[in-house]
Amino acid sequence: MSENKEKTAGELLREKLVYKPKNGFTKLSDTELAVVNAYCEGYKAYLDASKTEREAVTAAIALAEKKGFVPYTAGMALKAGDKVYLNNRGKALLLATIGTRPITDGVTIAAAHIDSPRLDLKPVPLYEDSEFAYFDTRYYGGIKKYQWTAIPLALHGVIVRKDGTAVTVTVGEDENDPVFCITDLLPHLGGEQMKRSAGDVIRGEDLNLLIGSRPLKDDEGSEAVKLNILNILYEKYGVVEEDFLSAELEIVPTYKAKDVGFDRSLIGAYGHDDRVCAYPAVTAILDAGTPAYTAVTILADKEETGSEGNTGMQSAFLRYFIDDIAAAFGEKGHHVLSKSICLSADVNAALDPIYPEVMVRSNAAKLNYGVCITKYTGGRGKGSTSDASAEYMAQVRGILDQNGVLWQTGELGKVEAGGGGTVAMFIANLDVDTVDLGVPVLSMHAPMELVSKIDVYMAHKAFLATMKRD
Ligand code: MN
Ligand code: MN
Repeated sequence: MSENKEKTAGELLREKLVYKPKNGFTKLSDTELAVVNAYCEGYKAYLDASKTEREAVTAAIALAEKKGFVPYTAGMALKAGDKVYLNNRGKALLLATIGTRPITDGVTIAAAHIDSPRLDLKPVPLYEDSEFAYFDTRYYGGIKKYQWTAIPLALHGVIVRKDGTAVTVTVGEDENDPVFCITDLLPHLGGEQMKRSAGDVIRGEDLNLLIGSRPLKDDEGSEAVKLNILNILYEKYGVVEEDFLSAELEIVPTYKAKDVGFDRSLIGAYGHDDRVCAYPAVTAILDAGTPAYTAVTILADKEETGSEGNTGMQSAFLRYFIDDIAAAFGEKGHHVLSKSICLSADVNAALDPIYPEVMVRSNAAKLNYGVCITKYTGGRGKGSTSDASAEYMAQVRGILDQNGVLWQTGELGKVEAGGGGTVAMFIANLDVDTVDLGVPVLSMHAPMELVSKIDVYMAHKAFLATMKRD
């Protein structure tokens, strides 16, 4: 045993003056860690149920309805404590809890996206080659194409027939389901392929999903394997080949979210980006009760392809929703927006010690250090970023610290290493104070991404504390 030594003047000064983030594990009690672990079981269940944006909306609505949220209808009267949601075409979602303050004091927004990089079927996807049937694909979002071969894949989505009736398709998730696969060349014959650059090892047009190999029995015609698949699809779903023209079918990894590491500190799964922020943004508004400021959670689609389209964050759907809420109180939407604040809830790249060369350690987010505030994203000379103001950064730091949220900061890599964007700038463009705050990720955009359980829970705590500001 050593005596409790008095701290030196230098130690005291260091504590007072130096910014030194710490591993969250060293700061949490066993009781708090148990809360973290329990919360992450809920997150894993949400992930497994939400491999596409449509499924993420459905699963979020189910959670919200259990807490009393009802569908918003145009012109609806609203008062403090009311909980409403607006389902935007099944692919984006707005949740709101009306606060006790006047609506013109502004709202608190948490905005995450629920689309993830994947492979989409082409409009005419089905073809036969050398007695194999395939689905032809076009990838969605930024992927390393070589990561998508030789792994088990599932098919999720919807086919809408000409008469408007829809059939939901999920194949590859049930234990008894078949799965699908994209083949790769054996190393023995891959010499020339391996000389190509990594972006070219597997080409976009090589991402063809193998879906069958048996010809229709007793048929002498051409493309009998394709015909056999069409027959199976007709019998199971009542669809014909032309119906693929009005379908949204997505190919995603089959596996479920799993704990990673002997210590179970991490979660490995497909689609953390950005359901790892979407789930906390939802649980926060569900736990926020009746806040002072009206709370709004947005789950947006199309972030991975630039936030375009009527379910993406560049669409007017948020503005219209705020207009409608303001109108319920006889106010104007833009007066609400200009007083509002937003946490743009998206993931950031975490320091990977195998690839430290793309990061500056002092400005890199680390797994287990808590939720990450990112003042600006973009790349190079702050291109394509809204860049949060010093004043707003200070407000957010204050809220997080007052509420015991473990947080850190991180840039998206070195100045000239690349970069990327989030929905932050589209919401900031509506005259809203906006900053990125989300969970750091390893292997971002890979078929299996890694996050820390502590960071996931701290995202929930951060959104909750911000929504409950007074
Ligand atoms: Mn993202
Ligand atoms: Mn992304």
